[in-house]
Amino acid sequence: MASDQTRRFLRRAALTLLKDCGAFHLVEGSAWRRQRLVILCYHGISLEDEHRWRPYLYISPEQFERRLEILRKGRFRVLPLGEALERLYRRDLPERSVALTCDDGTYDFYKQAYPRLEQFGIPATVYLTTYYNALELPVFSLICSYMMWKARGLGAAELRELGVPQPVDLASTANRQQAADQLIAWADGQEFSGVQKNDVARRLAERLKVDYEELVAKRILQLMNRCEVKQLAAAGVDFQLHTHRHRMPRSEELLRQEIAENREWIEEAGGKTGRHFCYPSGAYRPEHRDWLAAEGIVSATTCDTGIATHKTEPLLLPRLVDTSGRSDLEFESWVNGIAHFLSSKKRARLAYVPD
Ligand SMILES: [Zn+2]
Repeated sequence: MASDQTRRFLRRAALTLLKDCGAFHLVEGSAWRRQRLVILCYHGISLEDEHRWRPYLYISPEQFERRLEILRKGRFRVLPLGEALERLYRRDLPERSVALTCDDGTYDFYKQAYPRLEQFGIPATVYLTTYYNALELPVFSLICSYMMWKARGLGAAELRELGVPQPVDLASTANRQQAADQLIAWADGQEFSGVQKNDVARRLAERLKVDYEELVAKRILQLMNRCEVKQLAAAGVDFQLHTHRHRMPRSEELLRQEIAENREWIEEAGGKTGRHFCYPSGAYRPEHRDWLAAEGIVSATTCDTGIATHKTEPLLLPRLVDTSGRSDLEFESWVNGIAHFLSSKKRARLAYVPD
């Protein structure tokens, strides 16, 4: 048995045992857990098969629904993020506190996540990146990778004129990743606009025999448009900051410009003034905190795994990034707090992360 499998087996056995002997209830109802806030992070809920392409970014609607059911059955208190953080630092959280956040604001939030959240009465914060909302086109870097995955049965592809020097073995994950990176770097090097990049994606689709227009029509890997954001903001979804172009520039001026554009777009679409932030791709540097504070930002979440306490730095909040690979039992062990004692935790901390 491979060591990964062994570890997973032992972990499942330990969690099952702990659940059966009542430890889950003991921890979730404890004073220790009451002082802590679990901030859940989702990226996307599949419109079709995106969770098979990137299981660490997407989960299926069925799996998402099971998570919501666990929260309901376990009487977890899912609070709006702003309220949850205020109460965390006031040391006034109710039992079993959770906040739910979704990164990016792809169309699948509108189509798949929101109706389910509404049905369960669960509030959510969407960290919205705004450049692609106005374009209403698929996110270039993602759609290229997705189409190569879609074409994985095709054999080899010749993409020299799209900046990929060697023929690509589409069956190989590593080869596809390398080719997608080369293609994206090539398009960036040409300083193509979003519309020009869309033409590149269309050309790639032709070579891969993928129906690009169909993907566009289905809104795969597109962000919500202004009208959809407006509708959800009016319905109570909390839209917060994630930069305009989904990046963390190295200069303070550029980062503050990113935040200003992002904030303005959200406000114009009917959202509140953004005061909460999420680091794009979870990447942060020591100097970012001062720059964010100067923009009036009161909280910032990372993708580091952990549970927040009143001692956690508000501009470096850890979360639980939920993925397809996490079983329902593991998810439950995170929201009730047990996993905190069983995992080698990666705490939110200052880190130098390259762009
Ligand atoms: Zn993001």
